[in-house]
Parts: sequence; C-alpha cells; structure tokens
Amino acid sequence: MNDFRIRFDGVSKNFGALRVVDRLNLDIKAGEFVSLLGPSGSGKTTLLMMLAGFEEPTEGRILVDGTSVNGLPSYKRNMGVVFQNYALFPHMTVAENVAFPLSMRNFGKGEIRSRVDKALDMVQLGTLSRRYPAQLSGGQQQRVALARALVFEPRVVLMDEPLGALDKQLREQMQLDIRELHNRLGLTIVFVTHDQSEALTMSDRIAVFNKGKIEQIGSPRDIYDHPRTRFVAEFIGETN
Ligand code: ADP
Repeated sequence: MNDFRIRFDGVSKNFGALRVVDRLNLDIKAGEFVSLLGPSGSGKTTLLMMLAGFEEPTEGRILVDGTSVNGLPSYKRNMGVVFQNYALFPHMTVAENVAFPLSMRNFGKGEIRSRVDKALDMVQLGTLSRRYPAQLSGGQQQRVALARALVFEPRVVLMDEPLGALDKQLREQMQLDIRELHNRLGLTIVFVTHDQSEALTMSDRIAVFNKGKIEQIGSPRDIYDHPRTRFVAEFIGETN
C-alpha cells in the first residue's frame, strides 16, 4: 500500500472546452526515473505542472505519500523544477544564481552558503561558483539550473524538456550526467520529453502519452520490444 510515493488518481485537466489530461492514473515510486514521452500537445507538461502545483486538476486527486496535495501551493510541495528555458540571471555569478531562490525565502546567510555549496558540489560545479553565466558552456549553464532546483533539497525533481535547447553532442552528455546524478543521489525524477531515444536511454519507466492519456507504461525494453498499440509502435519507431 505504501510502496508508492506519487499517485495520480483519475486526474483530468480542462482548459475551457479542451480536455488535455483525461482521467489519468499513474504511480511513481520513490527513487524512480520516469519519463513522460509523447508528441507535442499530448498533455505531458500539463501533468507536470499539476504535480508541481502550478495548475490545479479539474478532477481527480494527486497524492504524495498517501496525502492529497490538491490545493497545496507549489512552494509547499518540495519539488524542484527545471524547464527548457532555464534563464539564469546574467549579472549574477553562478553561486548568486543558485542562492537566489533561497534569499527570496528568507533563509539565513550561513544556511544559504552551505546549501549553495552542497548543490554546486552535487552537479560538480564547485570550482566555477564565481563565474558569470556568459563564461560557462551550455552544459554548465544547464547544471547551474539543476543546482538551483536542488538547493531546496527536493524529494522530487521535475524536468520539462530540459535538454531541448542543446545541440546533440551536449544533449547526450547531459543525459548521462542527469542519469548519473539520479543514481548517485537516489532522486525521484519525472522527465518530460518528446524524444524517444532520450526516454529510452534515461528512464526506469516510460509513460507514453497520447491525447491526454497514457497509452502504455513500462520499462524502456517493454515499450521498445512490446509496443501494445499501433500508436506506441509508430511513435517509438520514429527517429528524430
Ligand atoms: P505537451 O507537454 O505534451 O506538449 P501540453 O501539456 O503543453 O502538452 O499541452 C496540451 C494541450 O493543452 C495543448 O493543446 C496546449 O495548447 C493546451 N494548453 C496547455 N496549457 C494551456 C493553458 N494554460 N491554457 C490553454 N490551453 C493550454
């Protein structure tokens, strides 16, 4: 009964007359790396936004450790969020960028320093803390964004196409980095992507989205070797 950590229980979301998430059920276990994979417009981001607390479900419940988080503001959910457009502040150093969300929440100076150091160590950027974003590579900037999400010591990290803006080589390196971080820290990661190969290489499980529903969920091997519907077979078969 308590072997799950996050549960979507009959969750729907309507925007006006448009239903973008449709009575969806999904369990995510602690420490799992789950990808939400599907074409553009299939409802992946909306699901992530509901988990983060930026959108409320039209119906259904979202449970974390058995307790409903419906209506709970995002800052009380203890989830780190990394978007594709992770905009760092150009006039702030790496350390200041990572400290920024903490200083907004009235953390003390000493506490901020130790959390920033720890987060930068996690993403192996400790030596670059005094640099400015323009002095970093795209991959390093991405890691700063990740550190900024880790600074609250979240139990879950939500990533929405975090590598979409990077070129292929860097993207592949970052895929390895994020997966390594997941393994090393035992993080629970929910990762939105429309890139089949990205989901196949990174995930413990993949939920394939189609029109607001999960068409199939399983390990990368399951999904790849045994697609249960024509949609999944065709979507997985497409190359980018
Ligand atoms: P995905 O992440 O799979 O690309 P989204 O969850 O972003 O899909 O979007 C699903 C559908 O919901 C799209 O048709 C999108 O235009 C619509 N949508 C998303 N957010 C809003 C919003 N705030 N208001 C109206 N429609 C929205």
